[in-house]
Amino acid sequence: MRTLSRIQDLNLSPTPENYELWFVYFSGADPELIKTLDGAIKKHDGALVDDVCYEIFQEALGGHREEKRVMQAGDTIQKTIQDVNSIVSTTKRNVHEYNETLERANLGLREEKSKEEISVILADMIDDTCEMIKRNSDLEDTLEQSSRVIEDMRRDLEIARKEAMTDPLTGLANRKALDSEIYRLVSLANEETEGNEGHFFSVILMDIDYFKNFNDTFGHQIGDQVLKLVSRTLKQGVKGRDTTARYGGEEFAVLLPETDIIGGTKIAEILRKEIEKKEVVNRTTGKKIAKITISAGVTEYRKGENVECLIERVDKALYSAKNGGRNKVITARSIDL
Ligand code: GH3
Ligand code: MG
Ligand code: MG
Repeated sequence: MRTLSRIQDLNLSPTPENYELWFVYFSGADPELIKTLDGAIKKHDGALVDDVCYEIFQEALGGHREEKRVMQAGDTIQKTIQDVNSIVSTTKRNVHEYNETLERANLGLREEKSKEEISVILADMIDDTCEMIKRNSDLEDTLEQSSRVIEDMRRDLEIARKEAMTDPLTGLANRKALDSEIYRLVSLANEETEGNEGHFFSVILMDIDYFKNFNDTFGHQIGDQVLKLVSRTLKQGVKGRDTTARYGGEEFAVLLPETDIIGGTKIAEILRKEIEKKEVVNRTTGKKIAKITISAGVTEYRKGENVECLIERVDKALYSAKNGGRNKVITARSIDL
């Protein structure tokens, strides 16, 4: 509901784009978007307009895959808001009418009245009270229904967001999710708080060796199977707080929060050995087809540096591992990159 109240507070229209924008804002999944929106609010002196929000939406979240779902969610939310608005107006009118009944009864009962007259007033009051109880119960039902609609939509948007952050072939985090996590870790590492020595992190960049050969020799489908197998092995080899992502075609990245370069190198070595153990087997003949190996570069984030520097260093380390004969882990520090 925070999303809706923020849209209302800022006097924005409940469009699908605005809903998605503020939903993502509050989910915290996209630190860049939070920065952009906070900056825009400051710049426009708190008076954001729909056009500015739409531009930010297109820039940050204009992906087509989710767009349709979000549009539908937006339409539903717009209709739900209208429904709730109209219920609130009707309820106000009902309460007003009921107050008038009570007021009339109150005045009537003050004067001296015969038994029959009192009976008429009471009968009127009972009628109106019954009507009010019925209306309240209808109102409760409608509100409950609206809140169910909103909850379904929230879940749907959550799923869409997750899908947008996941690589469909391997189920690992995709490049977008990886970037977002790197930015989060970088800002954590640079936070100026006392005793903030612990927030370092390491990055492993990996690339499957001679992967083109797999595709050329056994076809793309076997190639895809290899990608899945490597992904599973990587995922099994790291802890829950670590991020394993598909960086590109047959390249993978692992982010290791609170892990120094020594720890990062150890993990890269373990992963390399685990993958080396795997063999691609032909399902029908049971024959071993080939071994899989990876090369990896490892580095640790250096406080104050930008993301490009970090990636360039780990990429160079990976390049060294390839040049050094493949199936190797090279630590950026050891070759003074
Ligand atoms: P190196 O040891 O130097 O890394 O050799 P390599 O053959 O792995 O390197 P190269 O970059 O030349 O080839 C990567 C290949 O990965 C090219 C492309 O055919 C394949 N590839 C990229 N993405 C996918 C994918 O999603 N599925 C499959 N099956 N193959 C892919
Ligand atoms: Mg490659
Ligand atoms: Mg390769």
